[in-house]
Amino acid sequence: MNTQELCSLCGEGHVTIHSEMVENEYKGQKAMLPLVFKQCGTCGSDFAGASEAKLNKRALMAYRKQVDGMLTGEEITALRKQYKMTQGQAARLFGGGPVAFSKYENDDVVQSEAMDTLLRLVRRSKEAFWALVEEKEMRAEFMEPKPVVQTAVRFTSLTLVRRVEARVDPRYNPREFRRYEPEDAACNL
Ligand SMILES: [Zn+2]
Repeated sequence: MNTQELCSLCGEGHVTIHSEMVENEYKGQKAMLPLVFKQCGTCGSDFAGASEAKLNKRALMAYRKQVDGMLTGEEITALRKQYKMTQGQAARLFGGGPVAFSKYENDDVVQSEAMDTLLRLVRRSKEAFWALVEEKEMRAEFMEPKPVVQTAVRFTSLTLVRRVEARVDPRYNPREFRRYEPEDAACNL
């Protein structure tokens, strides 16, 4: 894919993508992080283009989040999926702007401490999640177990009403009841 890309330094060689583990130190803690770069087969120069720089920055951000005790992008994705939210819904529920969750989850930016605290609270407690949904008036967007039960009850009572009508009909107008009988039978199928 990138093997046909010409080296921007010598203009002759083709560059290939390489990755190696490099030691990184942050706040006194060390870890091996993947470093992606391009290397020219002719002049031997190595450099990072925009996409490599982005990948490297993400790996570094994810590591720093871990050291700082912040939720990582992966953990935020898991939390969002736990409550079956889209990134847009998460942004409206928690705040941070329309593309906030795409950035948090890709480790492009670090969430604020307040956002991190709120996310942890909701991860820990379903009650906190539903209270927040209520607060933001987003109830209609989320399926809660209770309304589903209510729908089932309504359906049952609707069936009961029909049966009562069927019983009432023969008393007052037997001929009409017979005329409707095939329809009722078809409905029961
Ligand atoms: Zn070169």
